[in-house]
Amino acid sequence: MSDCCEASSPSRKRDCPVSGQACVEVSVNTIAHHLRQAWGWEGKDQRYYFCDDPACEVVYFGADNSVILKARLRTMVGAKEPMPDALLCYCFGVTRAGALSDPAAREFVVAQTRRGLCSCETSNPSGRCCLKDFPPN
Ligand SMILES: [Zn+2]
Repeated sequence: MSDCCEASSPSRKRDCPVSGQACVEVSVNTIAHHLRQAWGWEGKDQRYYFCDDPACEVVYFGADNSVILKARLRTMVGAKEPMPDALLCYCFGVTRAGALSDPAAREFVVAQTRRGLCSCETSNPSGRCCLKDFPPN
């Protein structure tokens, strides 16, 4: 399994063409797992990035500045949505409210990811570990 939670590999960043926020790279594999009718999407042979700015409609964009908006996804991007029932951990179904109200949720996620039992690369639209999206405790 991937070491999605290791911060070891320096991720390349690129500014979102809409929000201007620096965004980290995401794999085409991740994108394909969250698009509606992914079979109708032709990923180009280029780098793609994930925008987690809550104010931005862009979820993914390419090095050519082509954008994939929220509406194109079949997954709600929890990190972009303020509501309490927005999912933060896609591997184990922890919502924002759940993360806030139950410290055991974070501990569980930390323990699972340490054991490599998370599936962030495909389950989380960011393609990365969800722990960074958890509210600070
Ligand atoms: Zn953006």
